[in-house]
Amino acid sequence: MAFRNRKAPTTDEFVVVSQGEKGGKYDPSIPAEAYATGFMEFTDTAPTIYHANHYLSKALEEHGFEYLDEREDWTDRLTKGNKFYTTRGTTTVLAFTKGKHWQPSHGAGIVGTHIDSLTCVVKPISIKEPIDDFELIGVAPYAGALSDLWWDRDLGIGGRMIVREGRGITEKLVRIPHPIARIASLAPHFGKFAQGPFNPETQKVPFIGLAKDGKLPEPTEDEKKSPVVGQHSLRLLRALSRESGVPVRDILSVELHLFDTQPAALGGIDKDFIFAPRVDNKACTYSGVYGFIEAADTVVESDSLSVVVAYDNEEIGSRSRTGAQGNILEAAVDRIFAAEDCCPDDAKKAVFWANSFFLSADVTHATNPNFSDVYMTNHKPKLNKGITVTFAPGGNMITNANTSAFVQEIARRTDNTIQYFQVRNDSPTGGTIGPYLASKTGIRGVDLGIAQLSMHSIRATIGSEDIWLGVKFFKSFFNTWREVDLEFQLGSL
Ligand code: ZN
Ligand code: ZN
Repeated sequence: MAFRNRKAPTTDEFVVVSQGEKGGKYDPSIPAEAYATGFMEFTDTAPTIYHANHYLSKALEEHGFEYLDEREDWTDRLTKGNKFYTTRGTTTVLAFTKGKHWQPSHGAGIVGTHIDSLTCVVKPISIKEPIDDFELIGVAPYAGALSDLWWDRDLGIGGRMIVREGRGITEKLVRIPHPIARIASLAPHFGKFAQGPFNPETQKVPFIGLAKDGKLPEPTEDEKKSPVVGQHSLRLLRALSRESGVPVRDILSVELHLFDTQPAALGGIDKDFIFAPRVDNKACTYSGVYGFIEAADTVVESDSLSVVVAYDNEEIGSRSRTGAQGNILEAAVDRIFAAEDCCPDDAKKAVFWANSFFLSADVTHATNPNFSDVYMTNHKPKLNKGITVTFAPGGNMITNANTSAFVQEIARRTDNTIQYFQVRNDSPTGGTIGPYLASKTGIRGVDLGIAQLSMHSIRATIGSEDIWLGVKFFKSFFNTWREVDLEFQLGSL
């Protein structure tokens, strides 16, 4: 399918406008809106992780990054002063910029995010007997999806298909543009029957159409050549075929997700907000990748190595080959070392990790005005203000006093505002990819991110300036982390 890829405006176009100076009017000429629009286009046109992977890959290619296939040897290609990217599993994306004067002992400035979102995954055999003439589809929740927030939403279906093409087998992305599925709530008029809890296997099954006289259509002899005919709704397979141009007989396997089709929108009287699906963690991923891209031309001329990596599977614990407990980052570092004359040896790699710095970038909680007392005084992140550094004494975040001072110094030098967040002692806290990377590699780092409302809801809120504030911050990190590191004399931080 076609993708609309845009180039984000450069940070040089930033106009610093404080909330107070806006005079109550949202000025569409402010570049913040260009970034907001770019983010909304990203989350709308890339509603599944596979589409997001493709979108970011295209963006990197358009900005001069060279693709590296994990199945090939990169050793002779990793020349200094160049930009590269790779992907794993059509989900995880990793890109790096290798400065002309970089040495392994300089370490790397790394931003890590996650690209997966809560979703419902179509089951391996999703076909179901119609009930009361409704054609149903079997789905399973990924992370916390299929909660009560998924009632009565206009749900689309998309993902990837493994297809036969000529003599080969390839992967094709597909997305049906209109909402084809819905999970209907039971009207409150039914009294106790309309009160939960509801069974996610039997009472939250999406319908995708009406079966004429309760009967499903029969496949043609040609369609019967596909192994997925009989496993999934034939009408769904035919719709996927129409969208992708792949005959049903050539569809070998599908991996499909449900997603909210309502487009992201600027909201609030003066458009102070973005209302959007999949904010966690498309917001930090988009900002991190574009901040990385915008810093690349400076980094190429420098003694630094910049890396951005958007992992899969954070929402289910990161334990996969594409998750943060996998090794895509460490394998890339091994390959970068293999391209150096000096290396590899484990001692030099230990020096590399000890001199590197990691930003674990994930959304965090903005203050909710209806639940203000759930937050601690002085720990209330605001929208449209700046990146929030997060702490958790229980070890769920990697920030400490030294590493937060490091980031604070970068922010001070580059005119970025930092906020701080920690949960109350009587409140649980979420986790991030930070502890996995820190404990595997020994890297120093900070947990931080864009503050949002309604985390893990099917639709959430961030500030309309938060994406460009994020891009500006991440660009600043890639451009200045080395000079700040050279001035910090705090041992291993
Ligand atoms: Zn997250
Ligand atoms: Zn999450």
